[in-house]
Amino acid sequence: MLRSILILIISLLTIPVANAKQLAITLDDAPRKADGYFDGPTRAKTLIENLEKHKIGQVTFFATTQSLNQEGLERIGTYNKAGHIIGNHTHSHPNFLETELSVYQSDFLQAHHLLQQFDNFKPYFRFPYLREGETIEKRDGMRNLLQKNNYQNAYITLNNYDWYIEELFQAAVKVGKPVDMERLSKFYVDVLMASINYYDDMASKYLGRSPKHVLLLHEMDITALFIGDLARRLQREGWEIISLQEAYQDPIAKYQLDQPIKYNPGRIGEIALAKGQKKNLWHYTLDESYLEKRFNQEVLLMSDH
Ligand SMILES: [Zn+2]
Repeated sequence: MLRSILILIISLLTIPVANAKQLAITLDDAPRKADGYFDGPTRAKTLIENLEKHKIGQVTFFATTQSLNQEGLERIGTYNKAGHIIGNHTHSHPNFLETELSVYQSDFLQAHHLLQQFDNFKPYFRFPYLREGETIEKRDGMRNLLQKNNYQNAYITLNNYDWYIEELFQAAVKVGKPVDMERLSKFYVDVLMASINYYDDMASKYLGRSPKHVLLLHEMDITALFIGDLARRLQREGWEIISLQEAYQDPIAKYQLDQPIKYNPGRIGEIALAKGQKKNLWHYTLDESYLEKRFNQEVLLMSDH
């Protein structure tokens, strides 16, 4: 009797841990263009404050080093000093589909050297636009260079168009349209959660489990403003935020698609593709006109006619 009660108590205690879905947060293009709603330093300060206030822990910034002017250096320095990880996102953010392998490799190496100045630099490489090379020669050229420099391909699993929500927001601010921040926050969080759940369901379908996920975000004003609201909603829906290092302990970190592809939906999408899924590798929220329509209705309260 006592034994079965003990077993019951132990199993009840372990349920929440076993069921917690996990994700790491990454922010690309740092220091990304600013001077719309916030200037660069205010964005960095707001972002750090919200990460701390909401106890989000360590996130990873993917830096493009061509943007490291004095102000850009200070922004990355702020993130570095606050204990966040700095990864490589190339020097000039080239589109690999339009760039020769040797040019792309030099761009990667230039960023690699410039990023050594940050104590929290880690050899993680995020391909701009997630494009990893559309031919075997280009793809293997980068795979080999990453391996030679002990890099992890910093793949993502949770894809979205957060950058387009930022564009819609900045465009409204620029022409002086009043933007209700509570509505904007709700719109941002709702759209992101829909794509997060979509890719987690896709993972369950093909892997039979929820893997350690990697969320793609960008270093932008809406991220600085609402990352805490997003974290609260994630926690409420049973998600735990983990470090990128922990996320890449998942077996899917070693997964490699056989055939090179032009456009990459993220690691779960790649696995789905390899298992025969041809459609809907990108969630329907990854669409500019869809987002614009909803933004106009739900944030700006414009009617449809
Ligand atoms: Zn990027």
